[in-house]
Amino acid sequence: MIESVNTMAEKSKAKALKEELFYAPKHMATVVEEDLFPKADVFAEGYKEFMSNYKTEREITAFFKAEAEKRGYTEFDKTKTYQPGDRVYRVNRNKCIILTVFGKKPLSEGLRIAASHIDSPRLDLKPNPLYEKDELAFFKTHYYGGIKKYQWTTIPLSLHGVIVKGDGSVVTVNIGEDEGDPQFVITDLLPHLAREQEKRTLGDAIKGEELNVLVGSLPFKGEEESELVKLNILQILNEKYGIVEKDFLTAELELVPAFKARDIGFDCSLIAAYGHDDKVCSYPAAMANFEVEAPEYTVVTILTDKEEIGSDGNTGLNSSYFKYFVEDLGENAGIPGHDILSASECLSADVTAGMDPTYPEPMEANNASYISKGVCICKYTGSRGKYSTSDATAEFFGKVRKLLDDQGIVWQTGELGKVDAGGGGTVAMYLAALDIDVIDIGTPVLSMHAPYEVISKLDLYSTYQAMYAFFDQK
Ligand code: MN
Ligand code: MN
Repeated sequence: MIESVNTMAEKSKAKALKEELFYAPKHMATVVEEDLFPKADVFAEGYKEFMSNYKTEREITAFFKAEAEKRGYTEFDKTKTYQPGDRVYRVNRNKCIILTVFGKKPLSEGLRIAASHIDSPRLDLKPNPLYEKDELAFFKTHYYGGIKKYQWTTIPLSLHGVIVKGDGSVVTVNIGEDEGDPQFVITDLLPHLAREQEKRTLGDAIKGEELNVLVGSLPFKGEEESELVKLNILQILNEKYGIVEKDFLTAELELVPAFKARDIGFDCSLIAAYGHDDKVCSYPAAMANFEVEAPEYTVVTILTDKEEIGSDGNTGLNSSYFKYFVEDLGENAGIPGHDILSASECLSADVTAGMDPTYPEPMEANNASYISKGVCICKYTGSRGKYSTSDATAEFFGKVRKLLDDQGIVWQTGELGKVDAGGGGTVAMYLAALDIDVIDIGTPVLSMHAPYEVISKLDLYSTYQAMYAFFDQK
C-alpha cells in the first residue's frame, strides 16, 4: 500500500518537474484565452479578402499605399522634420513600400523593423511570348522563384502586370480574377498516353519549356494566311489594351493561380490561398504598423520584392534602397544613417515549413515547426553548414523571446528541415549586412511554394501579435 502511494506521489512530482523543466510547445487552442478566437477570426477574414484581391508585388504595393494614405500616412519628404506619431511611406519602383511611424525616442536609438516580401513564386511571360501551333495560341513562360513545375498545369491562371507601350504610356493588366473574366491554363498529357512521361523523374515531369499557357483557338476571319489564331489574339489585345506584339518586350506580365482564399477543414481553422509565402507575414507586418499608436521607437515595415529569386535587383533587399531611406531619415535629424542602422533591430518576417505528417522524412521532429503552435522564430535559415544566412545572436533571440513571453504570445522554433536536407534563405542576411540585429520569424506553411498553400488562422494571428508587440515595445 504505502509503496504504491509513494509511486503515485513520485509520478505527479515528475510530471510537475517535467512541466517546469521541459520545453514542449503546445497547440495554441489549448493555451490561449477564449477571447483570442474571435479576434483571430476577424483578422483572418480581412486577410482572406486581401489574399483574394491582391496577388503581385505591384498590386500589393498599390493596396498598402492606398490603405496607408487612408490612415494619414504621407509620402516621405526628406527635407521635412517629423514629429513623434507622424506616419510616412516611401514606394520603390511600384514594387516595394516602406511604412514608417515616428517614435518618441530619437532616431539614434534605432528603428524597430519588420521586413517581409510581397513577391511569390509564379510564371512570368517571356519577352516574346505569343505563338501559334496547330491553330492554338500560347504564351511562353519563364518561371519565377522555386516551383515544382508539375503543380502549375491544369489549374486556372490569371494574368497580372504592366505593359509599357512604344509611346511610353503604361497599361495595367489584371484578367482572370473577376467573375466572368476568361482565365488561362497550362495543359498536361492524358494518363492514357503518358507512359513515357511517367518515366520522368518528378523534377522533370513537366519541363520549363512545357509551361506553355493556352490563350486562344479562333482564327482571324476571312483570309488565307498563316498564324491567324495568333493574329486574332493580337487583334483582341490591340482593341482592349492598344498594344502591338512588340509591346510584350517592354512588359512585366505574371501568371498566378486564379484561386480565391478559402477556409479549409470542417472546423474552418485553416486558410488555403496563393502566396501565403510571404503575404501571411507582410499583411500582419503592415497591419501592426497601421495599428500601433504612439510607439516609443520609430517603427518601420518593409514590404520588399525579389526575395524569391535571391533579393537581387534594385527592388530586392540586397540593394541599397533601404539603406538610402535610413540615411534620408537621419539627414534632417542630423544623425548619420549608419548610427541609426547599428542601433536598429529587425524581425525578418518570412514563413517556415510546417511539419506535414504525410511528408515527415525531411523534417527533424524536435526542431520542426508545427501548424497552430504559433509563429515560428528561426535563429538561422540557410543550408549545409549554416551557409547563406544570418545566425541571430543568443542575446537578440533572448530579447525577442522575453518580449513575446511577457505578453503571453504563443511562439515556437524550428529549422528548415533536417541538416543537409536542403535549405533556403530569407532577407535576414541583407539586413544583418547593414549591422542590424535581425532574426527570422514567421508563420508555418503547408505546401509552401505550391499554387495553393495552407496556413492556420491561429498562427496568422500569433504572427500579427508578435509584429505588434515588437513595434509596441517600451
Ligand atoms: Mn518567403
Ligand atoms: Mn519563398
